[in-house]
Amino acid sequence: MNPLVTNDDGVYAPGISILTAALAREGLNPTVVAPDRERSSVGHAITLTRPLRVWPVTGRVYPADVPAYCCDGTPSDCVVLGVDEVAPETDWVISGINNGPNLGDDLTYSGTVSAAMEGTILGRHALAVSLNCHREHEDRRYEDAAEIVIRLLRWVSRSPIPYGVLLNVNIPNLPLAEMKGIKVTRQGKREYADKVTPLTDPFGRAFYWVAGRPEDDLVEGSDVWAVAHGFVSVTPVHMDMTHYDTMALLRDGGVEGEMF
Ligand code: MN
Repeated sequence: MNPLVTNDDGVYAPGISILTAALAREGLNPTVVAPDRERSSVGHAITLTRPLRVWPVTGRVYPADVPAYCCDGTPSDCVVLGVDEVAPETDWVISGINNGPNLGDDLTYSGTVSAAMEGTILGRHALAVSLNCHREHEDRRYEDAAEIVIRLLRWVSRSPIPYGVLLNVNIPNLPLAEMKGIKVTRQGKREYADKVTPLTDPFGRAFYWVAGRPEDDLVEGSDVWAVAHGFVSVTPVHMDMTHYDTMALLRDGGVEGEMF
């Protein structure tokens, strides 16, 4: 396996370096191309209006035999450049381990998940992996999460999944022994309450901070439900956003015939 590893927390984040070290220990051939700074919640953006640069990571962040590069673009830029220029032999795009979950409606905002989406668009297998840690968690169990990724990769190497489908994996911030197991889930519902906080700057002008408190609809079988109950959540995600039932509704309602 020749995984291209990226993330949206930046190339120096602990999640990506711990994951990459685990992939190398497993005997895989990872190459890292990741953003030079945090790019969380940039979604699937690619950079078209300025040039992009890629340069080697310095310092002992990655094992010496792992090629590792920074890029001054988005996570999806990293995947495009990684697959097209740096490591054309890439067969898997692995994005993470993100500092925080990517559940429910987070998916389209997430740079982590979008990088995996870019991998599927470029014809590679892809996996996005996020740790369900929160601001109050002092302990971030990236090593345990990396072990889950290794076990999943062993499984998919025996039981291949189709191209065009990525696995969105969310892992509880727990020691391995305290995790309840793995649940195959569907994308759930996560809404953010009090999304906009209006504040005032030192000159008396209003400014706004978009954040909010996640409120999950804990329906059994969903990704939010699984991690809330201590399970690793594995959601197969594909890029076809067509709503097929509504196609029939539009056609049966006559929209194709009535306008012209
Ligand atoms: Mn992030």
